[in-house]
Amino acid sequence: MDHFGFAQGEMYVEGLRVSEIAEAVGTPFYCYSTETLVRHYKVFSDAFAQNDFLLCYAVKANTNQAVIKTLADQGAGADVVSEGEMRRALLAGVSPEKIVYSGVAKTEGEMAFALGQGILQFNVESEPELEQLSRIATSLGKVAAIAFRINPDVDARTHAKISTGKAENKFGVPWTRAREIYARAAKLPGIKVQGVDLHIGSQLTELAPFEEAFHRIGQLIEDLRADGHEISVLDLGGGLGIPYEQAGEQPPLPLDYAEMVKRVVGHLGCKIVIEPGRLLVGNAGILVSKVIYVKEGENRKFLILDAAMNDLIRPSMYDAYHEIVPVVESDAAPEPYDIVGPVCETGDTFARGRDIAPLKGGDLVAMRSAGAYGAVMASTYNTRPLVPEVLVNGAEYAIIRPRPSYDDIIGLDQIPAWLKE
Ligand SMILES: *Cc1c(COP(=O)(O)O)cnc(C)c1O
Repeated sequence: MDHFGFAQGEMYVEGLRVSEIAEAVGTPFYCYSTETLVRHYKVFSDAFAQNDFLLCYAVKANTNQAVIKTLADQGAGADVVSEGEMRRALLAGVSPEKIVYSGVAKTEGEMAFALGQGILQFNVESEPELEQLSRIATSLGKVAAIAFRINPDVDARTHAKISTGKAENKFGVPWTRAREIYARAAKLPGIKVQGVDLHIGSQLTELAPFEEAFHRIGQLIEDLRADGHEISVLDLGGGLGIPYEQAGEQPPLPLDYAEMVKRVVGHLGCKIVIEPGRLLVGNAGILVSKVIYVKEGENRKFLILDAAMNDLIRPSMYDAYHEIVPVVESDAAPEPYDIVGPVCETGDTFARGRDIAPLKGGDLVAMRSAGAYGAVMASTYNTRPLVPEVLVNGAEYAIIRPRPSYDDIIGLDQIPAWLKE
């Protein structure tokens, strides 16, 4: 459920007309809804209310500090995958003891930074990473609280580019070798073994793969405890999917997810950490864009927008579906259009043969479910300024990342001395 709706024939974000914001900010821009963010956080926190529970928002889905702070003010911690993300989370007011540090290969510098902050947990992904963390912690006189990210070899049944829990994926340590690796960790200085972690993929639309993986991890925790390890934290990762098509498949609800978690791993008495990203922010954001031209091709019509693949790469990268709706409703019968951006790539296509009410140059459209993996993956390809971000809160809005000027972008280039006269 989100707070983007229609009234008097126009799209609203909470109490504001999308067209009004577009007029003030210019297009394209991302627009997020505070109420939706808060609502999504509460759905999880209510579902786990009776448990020792921490939601660590996977900030890579949307790293704007205003978004992180909105969730942190509700009580969320952060799951980060780089020093940069950790810095953003700290600046947005997330306390270090609510930060878990994931990521396939943390560097020396990143480890030292995180150790200096005193974070809740490092999710270690390999033995070389473990050895390095032990060395750095020891040299700094610190102790790193760790979990291993276990690769449970489970098929998440999602898009291949966002499946992370199969044995062939680069993530985590194989569950078949986990006991051996924990035994090694327990002997290392500067390391405190405290948890088990997993994250099997993103945009999962069924509970079954989660359940299979959690069963495996629950068994592993019992084995590790029998081996003498104190396992008190169980980090289940993120990955719960969202409905991208209003009329399409409905992924499981957080409440059902929570019930399954309690049923499968509740008896272990661990602190439960979850790391949702997409579910918190995905449907809390839209990308608003303007039609530049309508072009009649040989046998199809193109709606050419001022947003492009560099602003929202999901359709070209993951074959992702986004609903695209006119900001002003019309009674005209929908017609099929290819909806594209102006970038010089055939992949710069948001939708092919999509039925939409006829539009003309200057009309606004909103791409829905664009709050996650949208702005964060944007680039300046084709020397297009990074798309700005706006946060709405009731009847007010604020620009939370401005559109850069051409000088901001082009001015970063430096001409070497030998090219100067
Ligand atoms: C990306 C990621 C998440 C969040 O995934 P969503 O599908 O957005 O919920 C959580 N944990 C880790 C380790 C991740 O890499």
